[in-house]
Amino acid sequence: MVERAPLLSPDELAEKYKEFIRFYVDEDGEPIYSNALAQMIEDQRRSLEVNWVHLYNFNPEFRDIAEDIIVHPTFHLEAASKALKELVSELLGDLVREEKFRIYSEGDFHLRFYNVPTKTSLRDVTKFSIGRLVEIEGIITRVSDIYDKLEKAVYVCTNPMCGRVEEIEVIGGRFRPPDKCPDCGAPMRFDHELSEFVRWRTIRIQERPEDLPPGMMPEHIDGVLLDDIVDEVKPGDRVKITGIIRIKPARRDEGRGQGPIYKRYLEVVHVEVPNRIYEKLEITPEDEEEIWRLAEREDLEDLIVKSIAPSVFGWVEVKRAIAYALFGGSTKILADGSKVRGEINILMVGDPGVAKSQLLKYAAQLAPRGLYTTGKGSTAAGLTAAVVRDSATGGWTLEAGALVLADRGVACIDEFDKMNEDDRRSIHEAMEQQTISIAKAGIVATLNARTTIIAAANPKKGRYDDYVSITENINLPPTILSRFDLVFIMKDRPSPQADSMVAEHILITRMGRNPEAKPPIDPTLLKKYIAYAKQNIDPTLTDEAARRIKEFYVEMRKKGIARDEEGGDILFETIAITPRQLEALIRLSEARARMHLRKEVTAEDAEMAIKLVNIMLEGAAHDVVSGIRDITGLMTGVSYTMVKRREIVYSLIKQLVEESEDGTVDRDVVVRLAAEKLNLRGKEYVIEDILKKLNEDGLIIFPKLDKISLLEG
Ligand code: ADP
Ligand code: MG
Repeated sequence: MVERAPLLSPDELAEKYKEFIRFYVDEDGEPIYSNALAQMIEDQRRSLEVNWVHLYNFNPEFRDIAEDIIVHPTFHLEAASKALKELVSELLGDLVREEKFRIYSEGDFHLRFYNVPTKTSLRDVTKFSIGRLVEIEGIITRVSDIYDKLEKAVYVCTNPMCGRVEEIEVIGGRFRPPDKCPDCGAPMRFDHELSEFVRWRTIRIQERPEDLPPGMMPEHIDGVLLDDIVDEVKPGDRVKITGIIRIKPARRDEGRGQGPIYKRYLEVVHVEVPNRIYEKLEITPEDEEEIWRLAEREDLEDLIVKSIAPSVFGWVEVKRAIAYALFGGSTKILADGSKVRGEINILMVGDPGVAKSQLLKYAAQLAPRGLYTTGKGSTAAGLTAAVVRDSATGGWTLEAGALVLADRGVACIDEFDKMNEDDRRSIHEAMEQQTISIAKAGIVATLNARTTIIAAANPKKGRYDDYVSITENINLPPTILSRFDLVFIMKDRPSPQADSMVAEHILITRMGRNPEAKPPIDPTLLKKYIAYAKQNIDPTLTDEAARRIKEFYVEMRKKGIARDEEGGDILFETIAITPRQLEALIRLSEARARMHLRKEVTAEDAEMAIKLVNIMLEGAAHDVVSGIRDITGLMTGVSYTMVKRREIVYSLIKQLVEESEDGTVDRDVVVRLAAEKLNLRGKEYVIEDILKKLNEDGLIIFPKLDKISLLEG
C-alpha cells in the first residue's frame, strides 16, 4: 500500500487544531472546546477529549484532516498536543511566572480523540493495518503496576572539568547509550533526574461475555496506558477504548536478536468507562411496546418459567427461582449507610445427570451480562481475583475473576464445590458485601462484584445422602452455604412415572418433535425484557406483603420444636429459619414484582417467595428422621437436632448405668427406651447409629456386644 503523504506540515497542522479548539461551536452555539480547555486548566489536567465527529463536521477542510487522523494518528496526536500546549501557555499569560503554573505548563499535554469511525470488535483488530486508530469495546481483565517509561535519556560526563550533557531521544523503545564523552573521552553517567520519564501501565482487554460467540474462548488484546490516563481503569471495568494498533516482538531470543513473531497491542489514546449498564442491548420503542404487552399477560410468569431451558423436563420450581434471580431484588442503602444486596444467590446441589449444568448454561445465555464458568475457573484469577506475574514485564498484575467480570450481571458457576482455596477465602465477601478486596505483592485494591450467583455443586459422596445434613453432603463450609438465598436439593431417585415422562421428553426433544422444547418467549426478547425491568423498575414492599412475610417467619420459628410424641412434652428447640431467610423472602418478592413490571410488591408476590423458601427448607433444612424443621445444619454445619438427640441418648445411658448394679446396661433396652423417648419407634437404626458415634468418640464402650457401659466407669 502506498502511504498517503501527510497533508500539512506539523506546524500548519498545529495551527489548524488551535483554530478548531478556539472556534468550534455546537448546535446551541456553545464553544465547547474552548470552554473545556479553560476547565482543563482550572483543574490542572493535561488532556482534552475531542469527539472525532466534531472535527469531521467542523468545515470541509477538516474532513480530510479527520480522515487522515485514522491513518496517521501519531503524526496528528503530536501536532494536536503541541497545539494544546501552546494554547495553554497563551491562556495562562503572565500567570506562567507563578511556580505552580510554570511546572504545569511545562509538562506534556494530550489531545485525545474518541468516537472514531473505525469501530471494530476485538476479534477483528487483526483486519486493520498496523498504525491505524481504532475503537474497541471490552472488559478489563488485568491491570499491571505503574512503571516509568524512559522518553529521553540524559547522560552527563563524569569528568568534573568537562561536565558535558548528552540528551538521547528514546525511539521505538530503544536507544544507544554513549560509550564515552565525545569531548573529553571520559565515561558518561546516566542521570535519572535530568532524564524524562512517563507513567506507563499495561492492561488486558478481553471480549465481554455477552459478545462471545457461543462456545468460543474470549479473545484479548493488551493495551498500554501512558501519562495521565494510567489510573483510569480497574479490572472488571467495561470500557470503550480508542487506540493505535502497534506491534511488539512476541518473544525476545536472548542474544540472538529478535524472532520473527510479533504481537499486536493498542497504545491507548482514549478510555471511556460507560456507566450505562445494559446499553449494549438496544431496546427500541417497538421492543418496549412488546415488553409491556407481554407484562400484561395473565400467564406471564408461566411463560417466563417455561422459557428457561425448555429442553429440560420438570424442575419447575428451580426454573422459577432462576427466573426470579435473573430479575433480582432491589439493593438498599439503609439509613445508617450500610448496604443490603438485592442480588439473589441460588445453589443447586444434586446427583449427577439431573440437568444442573444444562440449566446453568441456559441461564447464562438468557441473563444480560451473564457468564458461565466452573468453580475451577478458566483463568488464574478463578472466581474472585488474583495477583499474577505478568510475562511481559515480569511484574505483578491484578487479574479479575468471574465474579468481577460479571459485575451487575449473573455468574453461573458449575462445580462450585471445586473452587480453589483463595476463592474460598474471598468469596464470602463477594457474596455479602459484593466487593472483592485484594492485598498482595504490594497491590491493594477493592473491586466491585455486584453479581448474582447461580451455582451448582455435586454431593461429595457422588449421591445425596438423606440421613446426614446438607453440610456433610457437600464440600462447602456453612459460611458459604448460608449466603445462598435458596438451596435446592435435586435428587435422582427412580420413580416409574416420572422416569417415563423424562425419557419421553428427552426422546421427543432429540427427535425434534417436542413443541415444549421451544421457548414460548423468544430468548432475545426475554433478555431485553429482563434488562428493561432491571433498568426501569425498582419495586418496594407494601404493608400487606410485609405482613405476610412476617406471619410466615413467626410461624416457621415455631416449627423447630421437637416433642417426645405428638403433642407431648418439649424435648428441645432448634432453629427452623433465620433472619437470612427473611432477607431472601424480601428479595424474592421484589424480584417477582419486577418480573411483572410492578413498582409495588404485593401479598401474592410474597406468597410465591414463601413457596420457594418453603421448598428449600423442606429439602435442605429439615431433619429427615423426625420431620422437625431445622436449619442449623445448613447455617452452622452442625445439625442441632442431631447434637440434641445424641445428648439425650447419652444421658439416658448414664442414668441407666448409675441405676444398675454392675455398671452396664443391655444394649437393646437402651435402643428401645431411647426410640420411645425420641419419638423414633420403627427407626431404631438411628439410635444404633448414635451408639456407634458415641463409641467412636470414646464416651461409651461395649464390654460385650449386647452390653453398654460408660468409659470412665
Ligand atoms: P448435571 O450437571 O446435573 O450432572 P447435565 O446437565 O450434564 O447434568 O445433564 C446430563 C444430561 O441429561 C444432559 O444431556 C441433559 O439434557 C439430560 N437430562 C437430565 N435431566 C433431564 C431432564 N429433566 N430433562 C431433560 N434432559 C435431562
Ligand atoms: Mg454438571
